[in-house]
Amino acid sequence: MGEFELIARFFDRPLPSGSGVALGVGDDCALIEPTPGQRLAVSSDMLVEGRHFLSTVDPAALGHKALAVNLSDLAACGARPRAFTLALSLPRPDEAWLGALATGLHALGERHRCPLVGGDTTAGPLNLCITVLGEVPPGQALLRSAAQPGDDLWVSGTLGGARLALEVFRGRVPAAAVDFDSARRAMEWPEPRVALGLALRGVAHAAIDVSDGALGDLGHILRASRLDAEVWADALPAHPALATRPLDERRRLMLAGGDDYELLFTAPPSRRDAVLAAAACSHTPVHRIGRLHPCPQGVQPGPARVLDAQGRGLAGPFASFDHFKAEPAADA
Ligand code: ADP
Ligand code: MG
Repeated sequence: MGEFELIARFFDRPLPSGSGVALGVGDDCALIEPTPGQRLAVSSDMLVEGRHFLSTVDPAALGHKALAVNLSDLAACGARPRAFTLALSLPRPDEAWLGALATGLHALGERHRCPLVGGDTTAGPLNLCITVLGEVPPGQALLRSAAQPGDDLWVSGTLGGARLALEVFRGRVPAAAVDFDSARRAMEWPEPRVALGLALRGVAHAAIDVSDGALGDLGHILRASRLDAEVWADALPAHPALATRPLDERRRLMLAGGDDYELLFTAPPSRRDAVLAAAACSHTPVHRIGRLHPCPQGVQPGPARVLDAQGRGLAGPFASFDHFKAEPAADA
């Protein structure tokens, strides 16, 4: 199977009606009709074998996750998905593998009315890079820099499940000790919170999606908004598979685990009902997990303080994943 047959068989799909895509896969460029008055929101995320996924991963899950992590970035901005491109480097054109990858990819794209409109395909080490295009009205994007002192801190869904599955794969937690299937689902099939992101426009001040670890990702909001925060450890929503783990480990998995693809966002206390309404209309659970505070003049916004139910500070380590700090690769 040559490059062009591969593209035609697995990546060139009919465009959904009303997609606003004038031209998809097959020419030098895709052509997309912008919605009048909207801003384009653009984001890329790359998945590298051995770094972001294990060589044994189910290709359908890989296709799903490659798009899911990109849609999650649109969700965190409150943007509506429009289309995506896929740059794929592949050691060999294995038909069964490609068929499953394409199934996972297109199924999620169809659910979000976000078609694949182009890309690039080359032989090489396994690597997928997706670029998503979305739209958001001017002034309505949820930005990291827009949190206000006194804001509530909220998070969607649950935390820690994906990292627990990784710990099992690394042999640090026995699979029999946890509900491994459900943790593995969290790791391999994350659901991007697109509907919640849209519903939070005009309600939330700032948002970010949790990819590297909740506390570290919150740090990005704090630095961009020049604020401090407290996080209530006992209010954190744990993934159900964490239930059998010791408290300390549960907290670490939730605060530093990463790969959750939940939305972490801030909103003023006066909008609590509006946040709950946004959660209800998007069928997404949310939890209030802390509060933002002014950061004293001349002080660097630090990592948030993590407090127990008595208001006592908890010591970490709750450091986030960082590709350029020593941490073993995904299947090391
Ligand atoms: P060019 O040489 O002009 O860059 P290519 O020959 O690389 O074009 O690709 C041919 C067509 O197939 C283009 O429309 C491109 O967008 C599309 N394409 C290539 N790879 C992929 C892919 N992995 N997924 C979707 N579309 C792809
Ligand atoms: Mg090309």
